Amino acid sequence: MSDRPIYLDHSATTPLLPEVLEAMTPFFMHSFGNPASLYSLGMEARAGVEGARKSIAIAMNAAADEIIFTSGGTESDNAAIKGVAWGRNGKGHLLTTPIEHHAVLEPMHSLADLGFEIEILPVGTDGLVDPADVKRMLRPDTILVSVMHANNEIGSIQPISSIGAICREAGVLFHTDAVQSFGKLAIDVKAMNIDLLSLSAHKLYGPKGTGALYIRRGIQLRRFQEGGEQERGRRGGTLNVPGIVGLGKAVSLSIAGMEAEAARQSDLRDRFLALLMKRISGIHVTGSRVYRMPNNCHICVEGVEGEPLLLSLDMAGICASAGSACSTGSTLASGVLLAIGLPEELAKGAIRFTLGRATTWDMLSHTVDVLEMAVNGLRSLSTR
Ligand SMILES: *Cc1c(COP(=O)(O)O)cnc(C)c1O
Repeated sequence: MSDRPIYLDHSATTPLLPEVLEAMTPFFMHSFGNPASLYSLGMEARAGVEGARKSIAIAMNAAADEIIFTSGGTESDNAAIKGVAWGRNGKGHLLTTPIEHHAVLEPMHSLADLGFEIEILPVGTDGLVDPADVKRMLRPDTILVSVMHANNEIGSIQPISSIGAICREAGVLFHTDAVQSFGKLAIDVKAMNIDLLSLSAHKLYGPKGTGALYIRRGIQLRRFQEGGEQERGRRGGTLNVPGIVGLGKAVSLSIAGMEAEAARQSDLRDRFLALLMKRISGIHVTGSRVYRMPNNCHICVEGVEGEPLLLSLDMAGICASAGSACSTGSTLASGVLLAIGLPEELAKGAIRFTLGRATTWDMLSHTVDVLEMAVNGLRSLSTR
């Protein structure tokens, strides 16, 4: 094995593709103008931004004027949720799930503090929302339903088409956090009846600190970030031109080979999982086997804790995760795992491998070797 780490944590972030860096570089250097300036240096930057906007819109079957740029997935989620609620005089009912990213859950909590009513949809042990529950829990005063497309920990893929149709029929806005799925699964905002969609560049081989929000034409959001008239008054602040150009390039590249890459990764993932189960006893697969991101392998290992296991992997140059990157440092079992009904003991042995474009079978079979040794070592310690 090489001295480069084996990176199996693509749901935490992805490496920048060289083509993306190449597309961004001119906008750090000679095309450095402010896209709001009227002279030609500004126009160059503006052309870069508008090209990216178009690529992103095409990728989800939206129009370019329905896309605004943000600082990432977190800002897009905040802008969508607070943007809907802040226009409503402090009253209204919102529905979401217990397995959302903190970028959705925290804004929901702060809206609850302001007097909004937040209700949490149930999820099954497979990590899936039942659209019938959405229908049942909608109320005349519901202002927003926010259900993520693919979960960042267990990779479950929600039936957002059905949920979108139910919301549209009821005249309720539907937001989906598609940070994990965009560029990896097919998304058509029109066919899926999506009103608001969040995405982030660094989860699809683009730069960190850049994202976008799709806002269906005609929807008025209270502006989240106040300032200048950029983005036609919908988000103040000078645009991150190189980041936006990088996001546009990353989206085009992801969309181009999407289906073939998804098939390659799910095939690798299935072989990896089969080998893990064969070599190591007491492995539980978390979440849905069917409606699952092609790159996600989330397991719980009986009788060991995730944390020491990760350390052993790290010493062997393998990057994996115990759950979401955002909650590392806490030794609590993940809220997502508890929400899908996993016993706390088992949830503490959680480990997530997320594959990417550069992942090969050699890397995965080496990982099984290392994990097998680590699990055996930890188990023999704890029974001594
Ligand atoms: C990573 C992630 C976010 C946050 O995106 P940032 O660009 O890192 O702010 C939000 N939602 C999900 C599902 C994510 O995986």
